[in-house]
Amino acid sequence: MTVEKSIILQIALPVPLRRYFDYLPPIDCDIKTLTPGVRVTVPFQRRELIGFFMGLAETTLPLLRLKRALEILDQEPILSADLLQLSLWAADYYHDSIGNVMMNVLPTLLRQGKQPIVGKRSNGLLNGLLKNHLSEENLILNNAQKQAIEAIQMALDRFQVFLLEGVTGSGKTEVYLQVIQSFLNHNQSILVLVPEIGLTPQTIQRFYARFSVPLVLLHSGLTERARLNGWIAAKSGHAKIIIGTRSAIFTPCQNLGLIIIDEEHDLSFKQQEGFRYHARDIAIMRAHFNKIPIILGTATPSLETLHKANINKFQKLCLPMRAGKASLPEFNIIDIRNQTLDQGLSQSLLKEITIHLARNEQVMLFLNRRGFAPVLMCHACGYVAICKRCDKRMTYHHQLERLHCHHCDAQKKVPKQCEACREILHFLGMGTERLEMVLAKYFPAHSIVRIDRDNTKQKGSIEKLLAQIQSGEHQILIGTQMLAKGHHFPNVTLVGIVDMDGGLFSHDFRGLERMAQLLLQVSGRAGRMEKPGKVFIQTHHPDHPLLQQLFSGSYQQFADSLLCERKESGLPPFAYLALFRAEAYQMQHASDFLNQVKNLMQPCASLHILGPIPAPMPRRAGRYRMQLLLQAEERKTLQKLLTDTMPLIEKIKSKSRVRWSLDVDPLEMF
Ligand code: ADP
Ligand code: ZN
Repeated sequence: MTVEKSIILQIALPVPLRRYFDYLPPIDCDIKTLTPGVRVTVPFQRRELIGFFMGLAETTLPLLRLKRALEILDQEPILSADLLQLSLWAADYYHDSIGNVMMNVLPTLLRQGKQPIVGKRSNGLLNGLLKNHLSEENLILNNAQKQAIEAIQMALDRFQVFLLEGVTGSGKTEVYLQVIQSFLNHNQSILVLVPEIGLTPQTIQRFYARFSVPLVLLHSGLTERARLNGWIAAKSGHAKIIIGTRSAIFTPCQNLGLIIIDEEHDLSFKQQEGFRYHARDIAIMRAHFNKIPIILGTATPSLETLHKANINKFQKLCLPMRAGKASLPEFNIIDIRNQTLDQGLSQSLLKEITIHLARNEQVMLFLNRRGFAPVLMCHACGYVAICKRCDKRMTYHHQLERLHCHHCDAQKKVPKQCEACREILHFLGMGTERLEMVLAKYFPAHSIVRIDRDNTKQKGSIEKLLAQIQSGEHQILIGTQMLAKGHHFPNVTLVGIVDMDGGLFSHDFRGLERMAQLLLQVSGRAGRMEKPGKVFIQTHHPDHPLLQQLFSGSYQQFADSLLCERKESGLPPFAYLALFRAEAYQMQHASDFLNQVKNLMQPCASLHILGPIPAPMPRRAGRYRMQLLLQAEERKTLQKLLTDTMPLIEKIKSKSRVRWSLDVDPLEMF
């Protein structure tokens, strides 16, 4: 009997299984014309899925056992060659399925099978594509800026990572703008990534005002249609500058010449669910594959990036001074031990606020806790309002008149009296809503604006509030970290940090690094123009090394001492981590699963397996959460172990009882 060979299509599908699936070509399909990366619809487990054609293979299986693909959706690959290469790398590195990764790379409408053509509305003008008619001149550069720009220009058409470390207000944006101009002159396009809340009208305005080339914005506030139109404009080469948040790193760009990551240390570049990637790290790989330079700009580099600069893998460019006439703000610590506070505010801080307001300057108060009060408690019996699904305290929100769980979003009515003993309940602690109320009492003649997630839910509302601040409509600004980052408020001369003590004693080994970054970012809002700025920090721990080092020295000094600690304890960037997470309604299910995963792994001397142990937050939304941490001295060792283990995990039967995930280079342990 002769064995018949037939040609089949290998298809990547957006399912967790890490392999290709075999299908017969659709009827009437000319397989010679198929290129890897075109979309194909196929039947899969009684559903119809869109996947990607990856290549041809031969099979000797009886044809009856194979299903037939339904339809080829594209003539040309939907993913350009460089994005296909990047997806393959990312799937390998993050150990996700290639089909999943490729789907994530596409805008939603393309995931759903729509064609990459511009929508009918918008009078021939591309939606999401904006062209400017103003023209703003280049600023005259200072020496540090000049040197930075020259170094980057030299890296034209060559892979090189630059760390542009510039204190807040040192003119990093001006460096970006002038570097962009010189790459545009070489007819190249430029991709700029900014943090989620960094894409403010102010930032964008500076780009519009400088360039006359078409520019595309990609962020979560866009409609899917606008997002696709932006994607098309970038792919066709019509748009020369593409600015976007995390997922914009996957935008196809014609003749990409430069990538810029602004605020590279920002956590929003890490996707924490589904396909768990770090956009900065993906960007570095993309620059590497495309042989182009990439700039990581920040005042407070992540220790990972700083370490790579220290060992000369990245080239460091410094802007040590504020640009123009501005100088760095003066720091003051208010020791609030034994002081009488009025709802969290010290007399010294209130006095400073009065002085600055009297000079017609703006004052910004930072408190990273939204809501009115984080605890609702009974003084008689000790009852505390707890979320039943998370075992965590619920925050009282005055605006909503409800208790709100910040972990699972559960809400409930505020009990009128203690649910245990019927005594009166008290609100303990301070959130932004309460701060607003206290300040209104002290400064009734001044207008107060609060910026936090509760206050900016509506589309366009943050833009509106920021514009009101710029125009001087409000004199007192209250905010969470939304207000801390990137904004340029020329008239803000006082920044008050109401309470940061919690962050000094975080259980996460990255806690202090984050805290230092946030402190400097917030402080950086003060005194950005001619008027000098002051920063006041209220604390019960005035002698804490973080506060001492930050104010007497620099971020660099502080970061260096953190790096020494990390080295001693074998933590990143001197080690590599991967975290398996599992959650289930029964704790046993989660720990059984992780134990099985652990048993699949070959132990070795340079790799530790820690756990399974309960997550720092052991229960959320009713599910028990466990984790298994892998810690290796070498990235290679860790990657090899994961590559060997992942296919075996797919065979664990009890995995259907848990929700599980793998996070390579986790940034948060929760
Ligand atoms: P960063 O991005 O480092 O926080 P920006 O680029 O926002 O700093 O610059 C801060 C301020 O300094 C802006 O108002 C900017 O116009 C101004 N600036 C930047 N470079 C110069 C320069 N060379 N001369 C004068 N002013 C400058
Ligand atoms: Zn909850």
